[in-house]
Amino acid sequence: MAASNSCVVVGAGLTGATTAWELTRHGFRVRVYEQANVVGGHIRPEWLRGIPYEPHGAHIFHTHDTEVWQLVSKLVDFAPYQHRVTIRVRSHELSWPLQRSELRQLEEWPEVQRELASIPRKVDSTNFETYCQSLMGETLYNLCIRNYTQKQWGRSPDTLSASIAHNRVELRSDEYRGLFRDPYQGWPERGYTELVEALLESSEIHLGQRITYKDLEDISLPGEPVLITSALDDFFCNELGPLEWRGVRLDSQFIPGVKLVQPSMVVNEPDVGVQWTRTIETKWALEKLHHRPGTIVMREYPGAAAKHYPVPDSAGSNKALQVSYEAQLAAYARNPLTAAGRLATYSYINMDQAVRQGLNAAHHILESR
Ligand SMILES: Cc1cc2nc3c(=O)[nH]c(=O)nc-3n(C[C@H](O)[C@H](O)[C@H](O)COP(=O)(O)OP(=O)(O)OC[C@H]3O[C@@H](n4cnc5c(N)ncnc54)[C@H](O)[C@@H]3O)c2cc1C
Repeated sequence: MAASNSCVVVGAGLTGATTAWELTRHGFRVRVYEQANVVGGHIRPEWLRGIPYEPHGAHIFHTHDTEVWQLVSKLVDFAPYQHRVTIRVRSHELSWPLQRSELRQLEEWPEVQRELASIPRKVDSTNFETYCQSLMGETLYNLCIRNYTQKQWGRSPDTLSASIAHNRVELRSDEYRGLFRDPYQGWPERGYTELVEALLESSEIHLGQRITYKDLEDISLPGEPVLITSALDDFFCNELGPLEWRGVRLDSQFIPGVKLVQPSMVVNEPDVGVQWTRTIETKWALEKLHHRPGTIVMREYPGAAAKHYPVPDSAGSNKALQVSYEAQLAAYARNPLTAAGRLATYSYINMDQAVRQGLNAAHHILESR
């Protein structure tokens, strides 16, 4: 095995699989190590009686990156799906993001209208709460966002960075009800696992192997490039302390006899008396299944011990710890290590960004040969 044209990839999620794809296309021998006994990582869906559900959370592919879309849609068939989200405010089912025209049905409309007339010209990015309040006023924020955010993050919204509101919180007037505005959107006809498997078609895959830096002597040659897509605190055995994550747990329920039960794939629940944050009915993504009796609804509960969302505290201490781990990665002498993907970069990235990062990591490894 020549170290110059071989590589080790830690993690068989979308990022690692994309790097493996690109490197094997360039003649590399790639060995992928995955801690789970299956490939796919966080985007892996399940099926029950022909109906898809996503135990790790709803995943809609959307992108404006033409190259990424060409790659994924070449490997698997995507069903066209424009994602929509509803927010339940008491008995009202409103579009999310909120549309001004729908707000009139709220009992609080007079106050909301008054506050909207006097919102500042520039949003206040001091923290998540000030950002939202300056965008839509206090009443609307309290009704739709404050409790939802408190439930989702388990901490007061004023301790969260305004960065998580960017691209997530909007007040629209244009009657466009899709969540995303990307030109390319869809859900794979047979699920995301087929995509990951296709990306891994020419790689050697080792399942059920959790890798830390201590294992590199056993699984790699000195000087051989290694792509890390696991969290860096895991990879470095928590030597600098654990990074803070917020996880969710999804409870799935098969409901026989009915075709669809929700007004959209995702319904947000800002009511503080409801324990879950949202319900998800993935069947919405595949129109060809809509006529079939039987559906699956998942309730998403916050606070599970899983690495789903990095916590962007407004003081920035979590990001600082990640930077320290990145320095440790850069200083590692035996192998050139590259970090990519949502876990290793301690960031929320969409699937198209995971593919882009996977491609970039492969090009970086190819160029530094
Ligand atoms: C709740 C939720 C909903 C989301 N919804 C969307 C959406 O609608 N649209 C969208 O575009 N994106 C969405 N995303 C983002 C999407 O999940 C990520 O972009 C994608 O999963 C990134 O893939 P990855 O390979 O970087 O990470 P992962 O899928 O987490 O893959 C990492 C892999 O590494 C393995 N691993 C970890 N540690 C080790 C180790 N030490 N040794 C060996 N293997 C290891 C893991 O088991 C896993 O298989 C969502 C994310 C979350 C959290």
